[in-house]
Amino acid sequence: PLPPRLFFEAVEQSPLAISITDARATILYANRAFETLTGYDRTEVLGRNESILSNRATPESIYRHLWRTLEQRQPWTGTLVNRTKGGEDYLAELTIAPVLDRSGALRYFLGMHRDVTKVH
Ligand code: FAD
Repeated sequence: PLPPRLFFEAVEQSPLAISITDARATILYANRAFETLTGYDRTEVLGRNESILSNRATPESIYRHLWRTLEQRQPWTGTLVNRTKGGEDYLAELTIAPVLDRSGALRYFLGMHRDVTKVH
């Protein structure tokens, strides 16, 4: 079997900004690219909600759809306007995947995003 260390290093070194949260979007882990893209040191975001990345202008209906999808244990993909720690807005293409435990209960979320501001 593949060693857990390999899983860790692969996620840690991914060019996608990756985070793992609990079922309420509280950040439990963030990788290096997450720090680079968002400007937050991971020690600052652990224990905080992913909503710290929101630019506070995204229509509530988008978040409602996001959570409705996740509650049904389906992955959600969309584009949000996020704000870095330094106050700069960027277009985030985000996929959130539910992580279930062995009994099928929703335990964690895996968030993966990249800056698509300059993609056209
Ligand atoms: P609200 O959405 O009003 O929510 C208030 C609180 O309830 C928050 O803790 C929220 O997370 C939680 N919540 C709301 N609905 C549910 C539900 N149905 N089940 C469980 N908890 C619920 N948002 C961004 O703007 N940018 C991101 O990059 C981003 N990345 C995310 C990555 C992951 C892995 C997850 C799970 C969520 C992410 N979110 C992101 C969504 C974020 O958690 C907030 O829901 C969103 O930012 C709206 O913030 P709000 O302050 O309006 O909180």
